[in-house]
Amino acid sequence: MRLGVLAFLVLGTCSLRAWCLPLKSVFVTFPGDVIKNMTNTQLADEYLKRYGYVDVLQRSGLQAVISNAKALKKLQRQLGLEETGLLDQPTVDAMKQPRCGVPDIRNYKTFDGDLKWDHTDVTYRILNYSPDMEASLIDDAFARAFKVWSDVTPLTFTRLFDGIADIMISFGKLDHGDPYPFDGKDGLLAHAYPPGEGTQGDAHFDDDEYWTLGSGPAIQTRYGNAEGAMCHFPFLFEGTSYSTCTTEGRTDGLPWCSTTADYDKDKKFGFCPSELLFTFDGNSNEAPCVFPFVFDGKKYDSCTTEGRNDGYRWCSTTANFDTDKKYGFCPNRDTAVIGGNSEGEPCHFPFTFLGNTYSSCTSEGRNDGKLWCGTTSNYDTDKKWGFCPDRGYSLFLVAAHEFGHALGLDHSNIKDALMYPMYKYVEGFPLHRDDIDGIQYLYGPRTGPEPTAPQPRTTTSSPVVPTKPSPSDKTTTASTTTQVVPSDDACQIKEFDAITEIQKELHFFKDGRYWKISGNGERKGPFMISAKWPALPAVINSAFEDHLTKKIYFFSERQFWVYSGNDVLGPRKIEKLGLPSDLDKVEGSMQRGKGKVLLFNGENFWRLDVKAQLIDRGYPRFTDAAFGGVPIDSHDVFLYKGFFYFCRESFYWRMNAKRQVDRVGYVKYDLLKCSDIHSL
Ligand SMILES: [Zn+2]
Ligand SMILES: [Zn+2]
Repeated sequence: MRLGVLAFLVLGTCSLRAWCLPLKSVFVTFPGDVIKNMTNTQLADEYLKRYGYVDVLQRSGLQAVISNAKALKKLQRQLGLEETGLLDQPTVDAMKQPRCGVPDIRNYKTFDGDLKWDHTDVTYRILNYSPDMEASLIDDAFARAFKVWSDVTPLTFTRLFDGIADIMISFGKLDHGDPYPFDGKDGLLAHAYPPGEGTQGDAHFDDDEYWTLGSGPAIQTRYGNAEGAMCHFPFLFEGTSYSTCTTEGRTDGLPWCSTTADYDKDKKFGFCPSELLFTFDGNSNEAPCVFPFVFDGKKYDSCTTEGRNDGYRWCSTTANFDTDKKYGFCPNRDTAVIGGNSEGEPCHFPFTFLGNTYSSCTSEGRNDGKLWCGTTSNYDTDKKWGFCPDRGYSLFLVAAHEFGHALGLDHSNIKDALMYPMYKYVEGFPLHRDDIDGIQYLYGPRTGPEPTAPQPRTTTSSPVVPTKPSPSDKTTTASTTTQVVPSDDACQIKEFDAITEIQKELHFFKDGRYWKISGNGERKGPFMISAKWPALPAVINSAFEDHLTKKIYFFSERQFWVYSGNDVLGPRKIEKLGLPSDLDKVEGSMQRGKGKVLLFNGENFWRLDVKAQLIDRGYPRFTDAAFGGVPIDSHDVFLYKGFFYFCRESFYWRMNAKRQVDRVGYVKYDLLKCSDIHSL
């Protein structure tokens, strides 16, 4: 018994190489830092739970190790990593990447809401702004992010300035009023809810991130003589090169920048964001701060977070807040640190940390490699710090991704897709063919020409050449199938080979025969498969009728046939469709919208593009990840009257369009319409 426990401990902690690396020892706990120094195991546990790879109801002991390995495989497939089921280095690295906070695997059992908007004129409202960028740049980033989707769909996006919009957009830190708190700088960047009422459809952005246009500070100037042009970094002023705004050359303390590379030559400049120039949000119509000001009887000489629990810096715009109640939020200067406990202050160089002197940002003392600095001359005594400004995250790209969720899209497992969960900076039009397919599946294509040319498919489609069935095809298939004498009574059959709807009648196939249930519930049969579809073998595993062409696809073991009236193509090998060569059969099939069909085998499913006769990129996916709550060893899967059916033995699990299992019952009573008398 003791040996067993010991063996388990070894398996649980050290068989996975990265899980047993010793912790480095000189990490410091920074005050105000929300990310604790976690071991890789703790990181993995939290990640798998947060993003939907394991149930929140955790199992313990060996069960947990097994389910973790399964969950890791799922995560590795979703992120396009090698499916080792181990917490290896590439997996740990991937878990540390900045990403979207929406779970990769949605728990459909508790998911409540529509998957798409029921109208195309979608509205949005920007509830507040980030101190990182000028409001006009933020407005523009959101407008461009919506345009990405309206370019390829019939959707239009209209901005509202008050009232309730479909998509309410806000910035917040940590706990921001919903059950999914943010996590400080990096890690998760933003999240959004699928379409629906209330919070549904809303998009939230983590304001502990440094929001830019993706390549460093994006600073729009005010006043000056450059008509609101962006700062040009670096720029020359009196022979010195500046890569941030500066107060040099001025006595009023206002930061400024050149809007061309050489101020000395061009003399073009503007002022940079500063609380001395303007505030945002609040109730003072952008009036600048007044220093000192009185708040709660106390004097303040700079912006403060006192009196608020959301971490935002504010100031009074008159000398006395207590009497006037006029205030605004302070914009961040481009030299200010991000987060920590000194947001809004610049780095102080040099500064002392653990007795050493630093004259630039450092990652010492941290196990996440992030650069930080002290904002006073001595960290050891003052403990004041923040992260150094970096390239930041593109608000436009993150917003375009989040708005994809707000319109009903899930995460993609294609690395180049906008809907891939990890952040990656790209220039130009960010949509991949997979994103366009996804959104057009929900809303259809844009009417009229697409203004931006979508990328071509990288997979090549092989056109199907129609062939007449040859007599040899028939004889080979007939000779390889064993003849079974089935019961004439469908109600005696425990498990059917295949069930599918053909010409509005549900068909039940078993050993060379079939029955059908007409619209009024009348059961007819048995009929011989060979009489209606002579090219087919006796046992078929799955079948579906293509909604567009009305062609019927039949699968048996590793072959498939396509019937169009009395004409037949096939048999052809299923790997011609792009299915793996080691797949033994297709057990179920389900039509999904125009021209797409999902093909099932156990825990995996693939999406077939019927027209291209090819499996789409990004498949297989896990059945239980997309259809939570149904048996993964279903032998019949089909679509019937708008419901998804998954059958195992004599039972079916019925799933509605919101992917909730809403009924489990007997195939023979509910679908075959058998009465008890027939079935002993
Ligand atoms: Zn996302
Ligand atoms: Zn939120």
